[in-house]
Formats: sequence, C-alpha cells, structure tokens
Amino acid sequence: MNYLKFEPIKLEGEGVEDGRKILYVDVLPEKSCTYNCPICFREKVYQGPSTDFGPVEDSLKVLGEQIEKDQPDLVYLFGQGDPITNDKIDQMIDKVHEYGLPVRIIVNGPMLDEQFHMREANMCDEVVGCLAFIRENDFQRMHRPIKEVSVEQKIRSLINFSKQYKGHFILRVVIFKGYNDTEEQLPELKKIVDQIDYDELSVGTRPTGKMGDRFAVSEERLEEIRKYLES
Ligand code: SF4
Repeated sequence: MNYLKFEPIKLEGEGVEDGRKILYVDVLPEKSCTYNCPICFREKVYQGPSTDFGPVEDSLKVLGEQIEKDQPDLVYLFGQGDPITNDKIDQMIDKVHEYGLPVRIIVNGPMLDEQFHMREANMCDEVVGCLAFIRENDFQRMHRPIKEVSVEQKIRSLINFSKQYKGHFILRVVIFKGYNDTEEQLPELKKIVDQIDYDELSVGTRPTGKMGDRFAVSEERLEEIRKYLES
C-alpha cells in the first residue's frame, strides 16, 4: 500500500525557487521523530532513530508515477517529524535519482551523525539541517530527545556532517524568543554557526501553532540576526 503524500506543484510563490518546480513528498505516514517537543502539534507515535513503516514497493512505484506526471526539477522529502528516520529513505532517494533528479531532505541535526543517518543524508543532493537550542537544559526541556541525543552531540553532528558533505548544505537556524536571540546568547549561537560549513543560511522563527506565538520574533529582528550570523 502506498503511504507517500504529495503536495501539488506550484508554478509561482512559496515552493518555487529560481523557477525550479519542487515536488514535496511527505515520506512519513505517521509521526516519527527523535524529539518529543512539548509544543509539537503532532501526536507522539514513533520516537527513535529509525522507524519501519513496512513494505515500500507500492510507495516507490507511486513516487515514480508522480515524478513522471509532475516533471519536477527537484524532489523535497519531508514528513511529520524527521523524514530521515524512515528506514527505507535510501530506497526513496535512489528512486528519485533513477529519474536524474536532485533530492533535498530536511533533517533534525542529530541524525546527521555518523552513528545515525549520515550515509543517507550524503546520498541527497541538498540537505537542510536545523539548529535552534544551544544550551543543554533548554535543548532537553524544549525537545525531550531520545536518550542518545544531546545538544553537544547535535552540534558536533552538524559540524562534522557539513565538513565532509559534497552537496548543497542549507543551515536552518530557528530563533526562539528568549532562548537564542538575546545579546548574551547570540554570540554563543554565532560561534557554533561559524564552525558549520554551510552553503546557504536560512534564519526563521517558530511558526504559529501550539504555543508557537510565544517564541516568535519579528521579521525585522530575524533579518538583524541573519546579518549578524553571516558577518
Ligand atoms: S521536531 Fe517537530 S515533529 Fe518532532 S517533536 Fe518537535 S515539533 Fe514535533
């Protein structure tokens, strides 16, 4: 049975970059994540570095059919949680490559570690790695990660991955008001960002949703932070 979900290709606006048609593919039929954030609006289902969602043959067939129908320029793998925790993700990446198309995946930073999914991330042409909390107590409280994951492990994972990755690495820094945006915290954040060998830096804030507003900062402040981090 196919469990992949596709978003309709847009020809303009969000989701279209430099005229590239992007096919967004949700690869997780249920939430699978290494975190269990208290602000998550998804139900906790699977929590661990890998999840087996069963046979993937039908999903791969449908993925191929969707690519033929939509003729995208890039396939973006995402999901409810951390898409790289799907233990068949390598087969999906291979399937997209059969069509000569690049693959982008978004991941929670800790999974880029060699002991987790560095191999699968290296198979992708573009990787979006996320960074938010920089102190252990904040990280534990806001993400409630699996026991193998800590803030030190996550930062090391982002740095090490970026230094050996041959593709396009997009570092997505997520600003949480009061946690990584103060005058005291920003230099700490910058010190980490400076060690990551990224190709593109994206700076965003917590989206609205369950308690999201509490942590959001303004667009103007985000731009200031982005310039500071890139300086
Ligand atoms: S990383 Fe996202 S999907 Fe995972 S628990 Fe946190 S908010 Fe939910």
